[in-house]
Amino acid sequence: MTRIRLCPKCKNATLKSAVNVSGWLTPNMFECTSPSCNYIGPLFIEIDPKDYKEDKNSQEGDTNNE
Ligand SMILES: [Zn+2]
Repeated sequence: MTRIRLCPKCKNATLKSAVNVSGWLTPNMFECTSPSCNYIGPLFIEIDPKDYKEDKNSQEGDTNNE
């Protein structure tokens, strides 16, 4: 089963492999596609899809943007 990569910053499944300006894929770097996050770096959280539930109705108290 494919695992889901979560952004370590915003905890959303919005990570993709980062591509640098030369067009090279950098397999050890990941980029968060969330416009309010913009995380880029080597870290990610990997979980099983069954552990990832999009409970949009609960525990959503982390929406404060600086
Ligand atoms: Zn993020």
